[in-house]
Amino acid sequence: MPIATVNPATGEVLKTFDPTPDGEVDAAIGRADEAYRALRGTTVAQRGAWLTAAADLLDAEAEQIGRLMTTEMGKTLAAAKAEAAKCATACRYYAENAADFLADAPADAAAVGARRAFVRYQPIGPVLAVMPWNFPLWQVVRFAAPALMAGNTGLLKHASNVPQTALWLAELFHRAGFPAGAFATLLVGSDAVERIIADPRVRAATLTGSEGAGRSIAAAAGRHLKKTVLELGGSDPFVVMPSADVAAAAEVATTARCQNNGQSCIAAKRFIVHTDVFDAFAEAFTVRMAKLRVGDPMDAGTDVGPLATERGRDDVDGQVRDAVDKGARVLVGGERPDRDGWWYPPTVVTDLTPAMRMWAEEVFGPVAGLYRVSSYDEAVELANGTALGLGANAWTRDPDEQERFATDLDAGSVFVNGMTTSYPQLPFGGVRNSGYGRELSALGMREFCNIKTVWVG
Ligand code: NAP
Repeated sequence: MPIATVNPATGEVLKTFDPTPDGEVDAAIGRADEAYRALRGTTVAQRGAWLTAAADLLDAEAEQIGRLMTTEMGKTLAAAKAEAAKCATACRYYAENAADFLADAPADAAAVGARRAFVRYQPIGPVLAVMPWNFPLWQVVRFAAPALMAGNTGLLKHASNVPQTALWLAELFHRAGFPAGAFATLLVGSDAVERIIADPRVRAATLTGSEGAGRSIAAAAGRHLKKTVLELGGSDPFVVMPSADVAAAAEVATTARCQNNGQSCIAAKRFIVHTDVFDAFAEAFTVRMAKLRVGDPMDAGTDVGPLATERGRDDVDGQVRDAVDKGARVLVGGERPDRDGWWYPPTVVTDLTPAMRMWAEEVFGPVAGLYRVSSYDEAVELANGTALGLGANAWTRDPDEQERFATDLDAGSVFVNGMTTSYPQLPFGGVRNSGYGRELSALGMREFCNIKTVWVG
């Protein structure tokens, strides 16, 4: 992909960038390594002050960076500003809690024949972060905030369609006070990633992106014995049982499917509804999906903007066409508009079968698959029936079912009677082809720490 800002609302190329040459990439890795050594001489309190300054900048400049994100990838301006605010919250969370998360953890010294035994959490060095465009600030900050607080440094290879947001991010951490090189943006294509992973100064890699990118980065990291955290795709189930508050479920379903113009890894994508409430849910959901206002993402009244890339819009259109050609029924939407830019309307498709691509594939746009089931077991089997396992949503007021869903849904998170969301306080990640490792919370911070055992006799 060319490294460029292309307005998804119009298809207009606004700015192109030359890739960072290899020599400059090497120099940036060198600076990241030096900054890592410099950070090891700083206290948690000092790093916390810098991260708090980054939070203040995010709050102060939310409108400016929000407009840039909207221009580069099409999310609504309101969503972009909310994303900047969420990043500020995460920075403050790690600034305030890192001392606890990084404190020595005492172990049972007597049991191991020591006078003292404990675990010490230490940084490991420069970490490569390969990130997607869908939450161009949040995906980066949820890696960077804990990494920098732990004393690691970051090298960002952002998606090729958000180069200006990527450059703003590197400036953000520098302006906040972190040493030069502590967080750098490399404007490189995916073909440069293995060379960076291979560099002995780079100690680990984290990717948020597609399954394909995950396989490629994990393979490269395996060849060079580097740790990886992989946050990959999702095709999250949203199960509605007979005891559910159907109106509330339909309301949240609409937001859960169409937030970020339908391009969220933890968006609910497959709506699995018990036959007792199927008609009521289908009606309420379809009405709400039809009411969403599609339009200029800069306008305050817009709910759904364009998709971020032409290829992404063509993928979504192809998945819906495939389903319709094989007999699926469209309840609302389903027609790609004939206009400039990468538009696709909120869509509900039902009567899906395993022969259709939508059955097993992630749909990265505002398209819901609606499924009818007649029992708890059938709901769980269908919910767990793809290779992905990122988030899962269940709607039921039955306490026994709530417990059972929490155990039976094969996913990195289960949200009952509420929308799947990421919070700094809760670990985030997937199972199976949705990846491995966790971000956020203390667990996310420790993914890139040397968890050192210390035994003193
Ligand atoms: P993508 O193509 O995998 O791109 C993500 C990043 O990986 C970009 O920086 C991209 O660079 C790079 N990349 C792509 N192929 C690569 C390769 N073979 N080697 C090294 N780097 C590579 O993902 P996308 O389609 O833009 O984003 C949507 C996907 O991300 C969806 O599947 C979504 O569910 C997933 N996602 C997951 C999470 C999560 O937390 N689990 C969050 C958000 C999104 P270029 O831009 O230069 O190609």
